[in-house]
Amino acid sequence: MVDRQRILVTGGAGFLGSHLCERLLDAGHEVLCVDNFFTSSRRNVEHLLDNKHFELMRHDVTFPLYVEVDQIYNLACPASPVHYQFDPVQTTKTSVIGAINMLGLAKRLKIKVLQASTSEVYGDPSIHPQTEDYWGNVNPIGFRSCYDEGKRCAETLFFDYHRQHKLPIKVVRIFNTYGPRMHPRDGRVVSNFIVQALRGENITMYGDGNQSRSFCYVDDLVKAIHLMMESSQDVTGPINIGNPNEFTIKELAELVVEMTGSRSKIISAPLPSDDPKQRQPNITVARNVLGWKPKIELREGLAKTIAYFDQFLSENEIGALR
Ligand code: NAD
Ligand code: UDP
Ligand code: UDP
Repeated sequence: MVDRQRILVTGGAGFLGSHLCERLLDAGHEVLCVDNFFTSSRRNVEHLLDNKHFELMRHDVTFPLYVEVDQIYNLACPASPVHYQFDPVQTTKTSVIGAINMLGLAKRLKIKVLQASTSEVYGDPSIHPQTEDYWGNVNPIGFRSCYDEGKRCAETLFFDYHRQHKLPIKVVRIFNTYGPRMHPRDGRVVSNFIVQALRGENITMYGDGNQSRSFCYVDDLVKAIHLMMESSQDVTGPINIGNPNEFTIKELAELVVEMTGSRSKIISAPLPSDDPKQRQPNITVARNVLGWKPKIELREGLAKTIAYFDQFLSENEIGALR
C-alpha cells in the first residue's frame, strides 16, 4: 500500500510535467496539475482527465495560490529559448514570483517543495563536465538572462527559505531532456531536427555544429525527480540530473537524418548569441545520493521520440500550431 499523497505539479501540462503527473498517478498518488498553458495545451494531459485522482487547474503561478496539498513540484516556466525569449519579463516573473508563491504555500502547509532548476545556471561553463559546486558563467544582461538569472534567483529563494524558515526543499538541475510531448514548434534542437527531417525540410544546424549537448530521455529524468522528492530530508541538492553521454549538434543532426531515413539536407544557420559551447553533467552526486543513473541511450530514446512526432504530424496540421 502506498501512502497516498495529494501532490501539486506546477507546469504539469508541459512536456516534463505531463510525464511526471503520469508517474505520480501510477505510483498511487493524487495529482493537482496547475498550468496557465503558456507553452502547452490540455492535449498533453487529456488522457488523464478521466482519472478520478487527477485534477487540472488553469492558474498562473505569478499569482498566489491557496490549495491544500502534501508536496509541491515546481516546474512552471517556459523552457525553450524561443518560448522564454518571447516574453522575457514574464519569464523572470514566473521563475522568481512563481518560486516565492510556491515557497509561501509550502511554508504555510509545512511541506516539501521541489524546484526544477536547470543546467543553464552554469551559463556558458568554463569547467567541463559541470559539477554542482561550480558557480557558473552567466551573462546577466543577455537574451538568455531572463531564464538563467530567473532560475538562479529561484535557487537563492529556495535556499533562503530553507535556512530562514527551515523549509524542506529539493533542487534539481535538469540538463537537456527530450522525448514525446515536446512542443513541435518550441525550437529546441531535438524537436526541430526530428520535425524537419520528417517533413523533408532543411535541418537547421546553428553555427558549425561543433557545440555539444548531453541528452537525457524523459523517462530517466522523471524517475530521478521522483527519487529526489522521496529522498531523506537532509538531501536538499542542488543535484545535477541528466545523461552524461555528450554529442555534437552535427552528430545529432546526422543521427536524426539516418534514423528517419530522410532526404533532408543539413544546412548551417546563424548561431544565437550566448549559445553555450558545451554542456555535460557530472552526475556523481545523483549516483551516490539517489542511486540513479540514466538507462536509455540516445538511439533508443530518439526512436521513441521520432515515432511520437511521426504520429503527431500525421494527425495535426503543424502550421496551425503556435
Ligand atoms: P514546457 O514549456 O513544456 O513546460 C512548462 C510548463 O509551464 C508549460 O505547461 C507552461 O504552460 C507552464 N507555465 C509557464 N509559465 C507558467 C506560469 N506563469 N504559470 C503556470 N504555468 C506556467 O517545458 P519543460 O521542458 O516541460 O520544462 C519544465 C521545467 O523543467 C521548467 O521549469 C524548465 O525550466 C525545467 N527544465 C527543463 C529542461 C528540458 O530539457 N526540458 C531542462 C532544464 C530545466
Ligand atoms: N502564498 C501563496 N499561498 C499560500 C501562502 C502564501 O500563494 O498558501 C504566497 C503569498 O502570496 C506570499 C508568498 O506566497 O506573497 C510568500 O509567502 P510568505 O509567507 O513567505 O511571505 P509573506 O506572506 O510574509 O509575504
Ligand atoms: N540548435 C541547432 N538547431 C536548431 C535548434 C538548436 O543547431 O534548430 C542548437 C543550439 O544552437 C544549441 C543546441 O542546439 O547549441 C541546443 O539547443 P536547445 O535550444 O535545444 O537547448 P539549449 O541551448 O538551451 O541547451
